[in-house]
Amino acid sequence: MDAQTFAKLNEWRNYPAQQQPSYADKRLLREITEDLRTRPPLVFAGEVDQLTRKLAAAAAGQAFVLTGGDCAETFADSTADKIRAKVQTILQMSLVMSYGASMPIVKMGRIAGQYSKPRSAPQESKDGITLPSYRGDAVNGFAFTHQSRQPDPRRLLEMYQRSATSLNLIRAFTQGGYADLRQVHLWNQGFRNNPAFSKYETIASELDRALRFMTAVGADFDSIKTVDFYSAHESLLLEYESAMTRVDSRTGKLYDTSAHYLWIGERTRDPESAHVKQAMQIANPIGVKIGPNTSPQDLLRLIDLLNPEGVPGRLSFITRMGVGNIRKVLPGLVKAVEETGNPVVWISDPMHGNTITSVSGYKTRRFSDILGEVEGFFQAVREAGGIPGGIHIELTGDDVTEVMGGSQDVSDDALAERYETLVDPRLNHQQSLELAFLLTQYLAV
Ligand code: PEP
Ligand code: MN
Repeated sequence: MDAQTFAKLNEWRNYPAQQQPSYADKRLLREITEDLRTRPPLVFAGEVDQLTRKLAAAAAGQAFVLTGGDCAETFADSTADKIRAKVQTILQMSLVMSYGASMPIVKMGRIAGQYSKPRSAPQESKDGITLPSYRGDAVNGFAFTHQSRQPDPRRLLEMYQRSATSLNLIRAFTQGGYADLRQVHLWNQGFRNNPAFSKYETIASELDRALRFMTAVGADFDSIKTVDFYSAHESLLLEYESAMTRVDSRTGKLYDTSAHYLWIGERTRDPESAHVKQAMQIANPIGVKIGPNTSPQDLLRLIDLLNPEGVPGRLSFITRMGVGNIRKVLPGLVKAVEETGNPVVWISDPMHGNTITSVSGYKTRRFSDILGEVEGFFQAVREAGGIPGGIHIELTGDDVTEVMGGSQDVSDDALAERYETLVDPRLNHQQSLELAFLLTQYLAV
């Protein structure tokens, strides 16, 4: 690596980095990041560029992005069954959405690397004991003991390994014929038992006929047998992201090879933050989460830093305003950005602005608030002259009870039945499919 590239790679070290673990053993951290630097990349520059082109299509209204997955993956749950259920859920949603929108869906998972979390408080107290907060399996353990809550750099290596095996499985699923469109359609038949199904019967039977027609005429091309599926996670742990960054031999540019797509969280998106400075140096497509306190100036500055050349697909803004704010706050932001002509992708995260504590004491969200924010997003972006480009949600393929409502009407009391998330509440399989069917009405215009 030449001196200039080395300086770029380490530029972020000159800026304040929030939300970083404080490791007791700095030498071990150094040994581990040195080791990571020698490991094979998890994703490849050519794939990353292909994703950027697909995101460019979304910015232009010719594709729509679907990102889904856990708030935080855990090492224990990086099993074949759980990964398959998540990928299946995303593919099922995407089939319904692409039919509704008559355009390609760009499929991404919060998967194969979403192992770290920003926290609102650095410490947590329980029964008179105060310990460091859980920051995700890449940093420390969830168990509330002194030993488990100490940040351990060896977890970064495990993050790498778990990401690699997860991606390997995802590549096999999506390239090996398992995710054939006709197969995905068969999986969707399960939704017929959902109480909400009657509302969607028309679209489901149209889809059914379209696929039977394709089968009848012997349509049998690669694009129905394989799908492109991309990995995404929050770029939070800068030592890890930096150690996974490599020079692309074709172009000399830096790519963060830990995932195809990286996003910067609401808590670390300050333009002078190490997180933004790190993202400026890499060629991956970047998302920035934006909450209700974002100003138009914040966005213009982020555009100057992260996409000065106006590369379509390079930058997405992921809005997470809350159902009560979205109509008020978003139009002004979209207007200011659209006036610059910079081709950003507008993506709705209808989850993070709608987190509440239920009467029974669970951290949850209301399905109706999530839908309300999605609806407000489509209206606000369109009203301000922008193009709604995608959705980013927390989901799992399992039948958990973490989000209240939906057609199966998960009640406050029912949350206790299967509340499994360690961090934020996720849509379950049925709620995710219901959302996909609901989305078709906004996509169809
Ligand atoms: C998240 O996506 O899990 C998250 C923490 O989001 P945000 O940065 O928008 O709060
Ligand atoms: Mn979350």
